[in-house]
Amino acid sequence: MSSNFTVSEAIKRMQPSATLAAAAVAAELKSSGADVIDLSIGEPDFDTPQHIKNYAIDALRRGITKYTPTAGLKSLQKAIIGFYEREFGTTFGANQIIATVGGKQAIFNAVLSLINADDEVLLHQPYWVSFPEIVNFTGAKIVEIETEATHFVLTAEAVKNAITDKTKLIIVNSPGNPSGRVIPSDEFRRIVEICAERNVYVISDECYLKFVYPPAEVFSTASLPKELQDFVCIAGTFSKTFAMTGWRVGYTVANQEWTRGMAKLQSHSTSHPTSFAQEACALALDNWDETNLALNQMLAEYSRRRDYLIPALNELGLPCEMPEGAFYAFPNVRGCFDGQIKTSADFADLLLKEAHIVTTDGAGFGVEGFVRVSYAAKFERLQEAIERIRRII
Ligand code: GLU
Repeated sequence: MSSNFTVSEAIKRMQPSATLAAAAVAAELKSSGADVIDLSIGEPDFDTPQHIKNYAIDALRRGITKYTPTAGLKSLQKAIIGFYEREFGTTFGANQIIATVGGKQAIFNAVLSLINADDEVLLHQPYWVSFPEIVNFTGAKIVEIETEATHFVLTAEAVKNAITDKTKLIIVNSPGNPSGRVIPSDEFRRIVEICAERNVYVISDECYLKFVYPPAEVFSTASLPKELQDFVCIAGTFSKTFAMTGWRVGYTVANQEWTRGMAKLQSHSTSHPTSFAQEACALALDNWDETNLALNQMLAEYSRRRDYLIPALNELGLPCEMPEGAFYAFPNVRGCFDGQIKTSADFADLLLKEAHIVTTDGAGFGVEGFVRVSYAAKFERLQEAIERIRRII
């Protein structure tokens, strides 16, 4: 007897995560003993700051090991409220906040609780690989906004031109993954204004919120007036900012109705993130001076790497915009195309095979002809990568 098993239509539509696939290639190559330079995944190479680990150990000792409310521990909700009050002067209600299993679930919750199959959703290229797949899950139509002409910075004008009567949502990501570009505050505000005028909601993926290199400025939609905030769902995460990827704690901040919908969905999926991880995150935010110190130390190192890597890529003939945030470079590799190398996937493959460097092909981010280079890797490895690339191109 054979079962004729077939996955659902929603899963058929879905592509596997290109970033996680690249990371898996790197892991496999490493396990074969190769000297791999892994510039694939966006994962801090720093360990979680010790004081945050201690909070989790202490939380375990205190017996915070049971279910929490779906929306998260009160202590974490309070700490998130305190963070936005301190940093952006806005006081959210606890009924606007849900703790999620990483930033990915935050976006999943926000999309699935808002979007119907006959809606249109705007994504600005290059977008994080999971955005289109999450939207595809709903069956809605994706409308991509090209930004190459504006150096990968989304403009209000482009958003205005892309909105139709069917547009229900735009997912905005600044600092952007994979471009690292930052939308200037005034422009971002204008984008939200245009959306609000047309009754379009905004998911603001602020997962790299604090990873901004001066003179660019940190901007959160939390600083917008209440009437604009009502159209926005902030997706945040502890993963990148505090080097806590494996802890899987993120959150959403949105209007009460949207939050109620997301809580309903989450109550039937993960319930909530791990209890003692939530408590550690709450204490990390409450003890901000110590946490901020650790954050700034990491930021200074990312900044040093950026200042080395981007000029070095440009000098190799791989033109690359200067990213103002996050920890990615997104060089244009079209200049290397020839009889053999016809796509950015071919180029990424060349780096993999000839130099044992793992990057992520830009096509997964919606832009052919670029590769993403994560500089969440040791400085010396970046130098070595540049030398290896110099040898092969
Ligand atoms: N967000 C990171 C990246 O883009 C982690 C991997 C993932 O979840 O996609 O590499």
